[in-house]
Amino acid sequence: MRIELDRVSRVFDGRPAVDALSLEIPPGALCVLLGPSGCGKSTTLRCIAGLESVDGGAIRFDGRVVNELDPAQRDVAMVFQNYALYPHLSVAENVAFPLRMRRVPRATREAKVTEVLRTLGLEDLARRRPKELSGGQQQRVALARALVREPKVFLFDEPLSNLDARLRLELRAEIRSLHARLGATMLWVTHDQAEAMSLGDFVAVLDRGRLQQFGTPIEVFERPVNRFVAGFVGAPAMSFVRAPVCDGRVALLGHRFECRSTSPWLELGIRPHRLRFLGDGPLRATMRVRGHEPHGHETFVRVHADDAELVAWHAGHLAPAVDEAAVVAFGPADLHAFDAEGRRVELSLAAGA
Ligand code: ATP
Repeated sequence: MRIELDRVSRVFDGRPAVDALSLEIPPGALCVLLGPSGCGKSTTLRCIAGLESVDGGAIRFDGRVVNELDPAQRDVAMVFQNYALYPHLSVAENVAFPLRMRRVPRATREAKVTEVLRTLGLEDLARRRPKELSGGQQQRVALARALVREPKVFLFDEPLSNLDARLRLELRAEIRSLHARLGATMLWVTHDQAEAMSLGDFVAVLDRGRLQQFGTPIEVFERPVNRFVAGFVGAPAMSFVRAPVCDGRVALLGHRFECRSTSPWLELGIRPHRLRFLGDGPLRATMRVRGHEPHGHETFVRVHADDAELVAWHAGHLAPAVDEAAVVAFGPADLHAFDAEGRRVELSLAAGA
């Protein structure tokens, strides 16, 4: 099912929670809605599900406007952060519930429930009540309950955020393989950029109800269209330095770059992993250590020079002393630049720089 949002708006108390949002999600794609708390992700999902009405624009499923259809008519299944299982029903009964509501005959119902429980590794828990399950198992049951209906569209609202880090990774991998097998269109809401990067075919980054960028995770990561996306996607976050533009040029760490911008200054950004501490690269600079953060297999080092403070990266363990001078290296393609309005600006290494 193709899902299109055409300038969709939803206003609460005069303030748009979703502001003229246009998106096109191809059939069978897994699209992640990513953004900080309050940016309108859940409201967007609820509008698609039909749980929230829209104040402007159109939502289309396979070209057909569904604005006026109620949730039951839209053939979507939603999985929330809180599992909302029926406490008095067993796992199997919880999963069977949507089929009972649709008066699916008993034999078909049982066959489908058995199959879905097997898919999610829940066969042995079929007779348990929700309170006898771990959080991860409960979330699997909620997932099974959505799957059993075989809807064309799945909507997930931060379904993993109550789980610990290891379980999150495990369930993410399961969702990915389920998605590959089912071929259903999926929308997934999260504020966790790592989840968005690892899960989505596409990522839609939202801020204050507006679409900032739509693309594959790698497009969004490699070519953020604005300062907001650059700062939001990637961990540790990109470091930024403000640099004045003089005669169409900006300088960073003694290297000069040409830009086509009328902005009086640019914000230059570089990801920690691209600024190699004691590493190799065509552009080099000597900087001083301000502090470091060891991660065992890698080390992040805060370095400064003149008015630039950046985070650099080293593969492996290192414990540099504060104020120690060290060479950092990067390449011209590792730099991002944004004008005073936050828009991306292309840079190239200045001749003779
Ligand atoms: P979170 O990650 O914290 O869940 P979100 O990105 O999903 O946030 P929404 O829940 O969509 O954000 O909320 C977007 C904005 O709309 C917020 O400012 C929120 O306070 C407001 N909002 C959401 N639902 C309502 C409502 N029913 N009445 C009034 N304001 C609402």
